[in-house]
Amino acid sequence: MNSCSKNDGGVNIFSIEDDKNLGLQVKQEIESNPAQYPLISKSANPDAYTYLEGIRNDILASGELSHKDDFAWEVNIINDDSTLNAFCTPGGYIYVYTGLIKFLDNKSSLAGVLGHEMAHADKRHSTEQLTKAYGIQTLLSVALGDNQGLLTEIASSLVSLSFSRSDESEADKYSVIYLCPTKYRADGAADFFQKLESMGTSNPPEFLSSHPNPDNRIQNIESEANSLGCSTTITQQEEVNSYATFKSGL
Ligand SMILES: [Zn+2]
Repeated sequence: MNSCSKNDGGVNIFSIEDDKNLGLQVKQEIESNPAQYPLISKSANPDAYTYLEGIRNDILASGELSHKDDFAWEVNIINDDSTLNAFCTPGGYIYVYTGLIKFLDNKSSLAGVLGHEMAHADKRHSTEQLTKAYGIQTLLSVALGDNQGLLTEIASSLVSLSFSRSDESEADKYSVIYLCPTKYRADGAADFFQKLESMGTSNPPEFLSSHPNPDNRIQNIESEANSLGCSTTITQQEEVNSYATFKSGL
């Protein structure tokens, strides 16, 4: 692990290689637990993967990610209609639940959520949170190979790691920055949070337990898109109709 600090002032003692290795460990853990993570394989539903990977490629082509060429940016679908969530490991392994896909109504809102998840990985929020949670001394002992069990524990805890509200604000902001040069509505993530809000707080979805709501979330996303002067070129056919086809294939 190389000591390095992030440009927003947060401390992160992990290296880019550490992020990639931790992400790969989480991926392996997920794949070894099909009861909890019933993955849809690419060969089982190539059309759904083509659709999602197309959105991912458009986001990567924005030129706004710092680690576009470092991280895996691998999309995976989890077949669980009852879970309204998505997450991205360090190193860019992205997981989207069918529950979230079916909850949304258009392609830009899914692009917004994907952009948000990709921002968590690109801004390296997980390893920053881990640096805080485990302490630098403990993590250095992992680096020295003294504590293999802890490394496994860290990989496990990543799946359920909660971000801070400032991480959430940053991921929301970068979702807009990533989408702005694309054809999608740059404030697509706001649709998702608006719809979540309309569900009320009595039964908060999984997404909000790992991605806590910052203040004025929806308003901040919309003002970011306005201040950047983002425009959209997506057609109604692609925005709504293609999304309905994508959903019905899941
Ligand atoms: Zn988040």
